[in-house]
Amino acid sequence: MVKRRKIYEGKAKILYEGPEPGTLIQYFKDDATAFNNEKRAVLDGKGVLNNRISEFVMMQLNGIGIPTHFLKRINMREQLIREVEIIPLEVICRNVAAGSIAKRLGIEEGTPLPRSIIEFCYKKDELGDPLVSEEHITAFNWATHQEIDDIIAMTLRINDFLTGLFAGAQIKLVDFKVEYGRLYEGEMVRTVLADEISPDSCRLWDMTTGEKLDKDRFRRDLGGVTEAYAEVARRLGIIKEAGGAEILSFSQDKSEE
Ligand code: UDP
Repeated sequence: MVKRRKIYEGKAKILYEGPEPGTLIQYFKDDATAFNNEKRAVLDGKGVLNNRISEFVMMQLNGIGIPTHFLKRINMREQLIREVEIIPLEVICRNVAAGSIAKRLGIEEGTPLPRSIIEFCYKKDELGDPLVSEEHITAFNWATHQEIDDIIAMTLRINDFLTGLFAGAQIKLVDFKVEYGRLYEGEMVRTVLADEISPDSCRLWDMTTGEKLDKDRFRRDLGGVTEAYAEVARRLGIIKEAGGAEILSFSQDKSEE
């Protein structure tokens, strides 16, 4: 294996220099963190599953014309992506009240929202990613009005598409978080979907039992975290075996296929 230059290391992923200019390699770690890094664990196989689930989702979104940074999966833990300038916002889209909105507005968890709601948080770990308004975003130049319009339109389209995709797997898409980046192509700059879409960044509930199949299993000490992620992958047709043994047996291989 060739030693590559590390560009950035986050909580669940590492970015390495890519093989060509304008590309990066995104490596999915097994590390899980919650509550702004206060709670941590290593969950064997999580990175492998998130790599596969995110690849699947990004490919489906590319297929309906949503521009993304995703190029291809390289191996068990890595993807080739386009290098973008990350817009410092966490864009949250909610269909059902859960997590912070339930607490903040005193809405019982599980209550359907009157319509899909988009929220913006400023990406700043030291501040715990505070909720911000469009006024803050444009005043502090984190994004332009045009970029906000594009982000809202794309996020609602992603929400509609993924709601259907997961419903087909008997899963309710409660909420999710996405990030966007600026892709520079000559004189042009395009807003594209970046980061990942996985059970780390979505709330996914079994349609009939309400069982949580996402990172809340880790946040709330419910156990069976990777098993739940494997169940999502199995229902989406990404892996075959119920327990994801197929994936987990390879998960010790932290380098390449
Ligand atoms: N989320 C995320 N990263 C974050 C914060 C939230 O991926 O740093 C996701 C989270 O998994 C959920 C959605 O965004 O699917 C809404 O999260 P919420 O604001 O309810 O935050 P939490 O309850 O996790 O504090």
